Amino acid sequence: MSSHAVVTLSFTRPVYAHELRPGDVFAFPDAPHTPLTVADVKKTVISPELALLALVLPGHTEPVHLPASTPVRPLRMVRTVSLSCLLCRKPQDVKLDLPHDGEPLSLVCGNHVSGTDQTPEAK
Ligand SMILES: [Zn+2]
Repeated sequence: MSSHAVVTLSFTRPVYAHELRPGDVFAFPDAPHTPLTVADVKKTVISPELALLALVLPGHTEPVHLPASTPVRPLRMVRTVSLSCLLCRKPQDVKLDLPHDGEPLSLVCGNHVSGTDQTPEAK
């Protein structure tokens, strides 16, 4: 474990279906208690305004088709984000589960963090 400190923002922005990737867990807003895990996703661009997604979900024999702009509730979206240290610009990869950890805003690498492994929270 490195002792870098990541400043995150609460992950409150809307998430749309086109952001989903295999391994993500989400729910539809009208069925918030039914978590769905994305097994695979394929995108078909119909026109500049319209793209369709085919989401492969376990337990469904057919892929679920929906517009890429469909709002979804993210439950698990693990992303590796590369951030440059605020102080020395050293790039560092940070792995975050966005709905739980928040969206990364800035990072201070281990060179400037003394002792404690604290993650300050931006409000
Ligand atoms: Zn640094």
